[in-house]
Amino acid sequence: MREAILDNRWHDIMLWGCAFFACLYVGFGLLDELLIRLMPALGHGGRLDPRPHGRGQLRRELALSAVSVLIFGVGSVVPWGLLQLRWASLAVDPPWWRIALETFALVAWNEVHFYANHWLLHTRALKRFHAPHHHSVVPSPWSTYSFRPLEALMLGNVLLLPMLLHAFSVEAILFLPVFSILFNNVGHSNYDFLPDAERDRWWLNAARRHHLHHACFHGNYGFMFPFMDRACGTALSPDAAKAQIDRHLEHQLEQQAGHAP
Ligand SMILES: [Zn+2]
Ligand SMILES: [Zn+2]
Repeated sequence: MREAILDNRWHDIMLWGCAFFACLYVGFGLLDELLIRLMPALGHGGRLDPRPHGRGQLRRELALSAVSVLIFGVGSVVPWGLLQLRWASLAVDPPWWRIALETFALVAWNEVHFYANHWLLHTRALKRFHAPHHHSVVPSPWSTYSFRPLEALMLGNVLLLPMLLHAFSVEAILFLPVFSILFNNVGHSNYDFLPDAERDRWWLNAARRHHLHHACFHGNYGFMFPFMDRACGTALSPDAAKAQIDRHLEHQLEQQAGHAP
């Protein structure tokens, strides 16, 4: 695979890149849609935020995500260019344990990189560029790549620095976007896959944490794990969105009472 990547032409890399990210977005989006329909039927978990999605939300998410797929796909030529220029290189026949260690390191780096960029996107100077992602107050599986080009460029460069510092295996490099979209979907699913209340701050409960980020806007800037928010003091309390959800439910009850005969 290493040779196949190096021997490709720049326009093939861009085309393969667009196809790769489009498949990830659509494939994992559909899988998530299936899961959030299947789980209630199996009696496991439940919707996190009972409020409906915004008007035109799906159309807006799909349009913004299509541009992000294009940016990620075309941007694949940058790491490929680093390899062609020999500023970076790929490991030759790495053993499994090296692939596993590199994958672990890239997942940890992705968390730090995402936190830093996401925090920056919430500063006064940049928050207008991040606002379209937050138009989805109640997120959906299609919110994953729904952001402006600047955000796609900031988040999409995650591999460049590690590749300049170390010769990674192709497997670890390709695994990162797959792992990312999987957890990105969990985070935007608005579904509590781990409903045990005791596990509110459990490491893998990204769905609860990112749902709170969308509901409250500030806090919980981490991607899939909670360690950066804990270290930087930006973790939201598990009931941070309770007041606004309760208000919505009360309003709904008032409306139903108003329509009662
Ligand atoms: Zn945000
Ligand atoms: Zn989000």
